[in-house]
Amino acid sequence: MTSRKEHAMPKRVIVVGAGIIGASIAWNLAKRGAKVTVVDSGEPGGVATRSSWAWINASWGNPEPYFRLRMRSIAEWRQIESEVPGLAVNWCGGLIWDTPPADLDAYAAERAAWGHPIRRVNRDEILALEPTLREVPDHAYHVAGEGMLEPLAATQALLAAAQRLGAGILGNTPIKWLEEKDEGCTGVMTNDGVIHADEIVVAAGAETAALLDGVGITLKMSAPVGLLAHSKPAPKLLNGLVMTPGLHIRQTAEGRIVAGTDFAGADPEGKADELAADLQAKVEAMVRGAEGIGLDFHTVGYRPTPTDGFSAVGRPRGRAGLYVAVTHSGVTLAPAIGRFAAEEILDCRRDPLLTPYHPDRPALT
Ligand SMILES: Cc1cc2nc3c(=O)[nH]c(=O)nc-3n(C[C@H](O)[C@H](O)[C@H](O)COP(=O)(O)OP(=O)(O)OC[C@H]3O[C@@H](n4cnc5c(N)ncnc54)[C@H](O)[C@@H]3O)c2cc1C
Repeated sequence: MTSRKEHAMPKRVIVVGAGIIGASIAWNLAKRGAKVTVVDSGEPGGVATRSSWAWINASWGNPEPYFRLRMRSIAEWRQIESEVPGLAVNWCGGLIWDTPPADLDAYAAERAAWGHPIRRVNRDEILALEPTLREVPDHAYHVAGEGMLEPLAATQALLAAAQRLGAGILGNTPIKWLEEKDEGCTGVMTNDGVIHADEIVVAAGAETAALLDGVGITLKMSAPVGLLAHSKPAPKLLNGLVMTPGLHIRQTAEGRIVAGTDFAGADPEGKADELAADLQAKVEAMVRGAEGIGLDFHTVGYRPTPTDGFSAVGRPRGRAGLYVAVTHSGVTLAPAIGRFAAEEILDCRRDPLLTPYHPDRPALT
């Protein structure tokens, strides 16, 4: 018989991975009373997360169910902002003209029909939104209600909030494998031995598939490379995100202009320095006032991406005590994934928005 005391015991959950996905899941679990330990092989804050362009959006090509998940997550960011001290999203909106005009018009019409806050803007309106741009087209689209954040700072704020709720954060603790007993996960193996728990959440970004493979679970994914160039800090030159053909730019909270050939960065093909210098030159040619600010550094990141391009979130079938959360667009999706994962782990309730994104779907196994 189960005693009252046992009923009151909080669920012990280990979250493997302290990037933005693991941090959001940990915070949501801790908020709900779980006893959470986050473990990361490196410094907490993530790998892909640190190198992200960090555009919070529902603008990127997706079928309607994925669009709905992203819109929900954007709404969740607003909620998180009100609850987590020090976490600020810049709801600056984005200007888009990175595809040929006819494609862009068709895309915008579809999105508007779905309720996306996308608005056609003419040349004068573009320049009113972004007065420093040198070359602008006759028309573009502006999406209000999207935004950007500083991904490492946001992840650290979520981890700190989880910690204040009692979560433990263990950096420099690589998980060698997942411990199993009787078809269920019971813990994780570290260099110092096993840590046991009732539930293991694998949110290990690009390393997720390797950890799952160790317990005989296939999750097909890749990790495309993406380079972003960061300028030296400059006074405010851009008001929002700007997506032009071959150059996506945004200005960070500390004034750096971050540029990629698109938001997901470009393959450096062994010439990272050259590519970063070229991106910086394009920024300085495009943005009035940016002349001479100079390149500071570049990042090369790897986007954890399930093979069909969507998220993989849920319990692999037949495995008790194991939950998986891996996605591209994780900066956008972290709030919804965090909330939904906590609900599924603690209440056995799967949000309908996650229905198409089970890790066991045929495309990934
Ligand atoms: C260039 C680029 C541009 C992007 N632009 C955008 C964008 O504009 N908008 C957007 O929404 N998304 C964007 N993304 C995607 C987004 O950044 C990622 O989807 C998100 O950061 C993934 O977060 P994560 O927590 O899953 O992974 P990560 O940040 O990689 O975190 C995983 C963590 O797991 C840890 N780990 C791995 N293996 C182990 C192990 N065995 N033991 C312990 N710890 C382990 C790692 O150390 C790491 O800290 C971009 C990504 C890149 C690279």
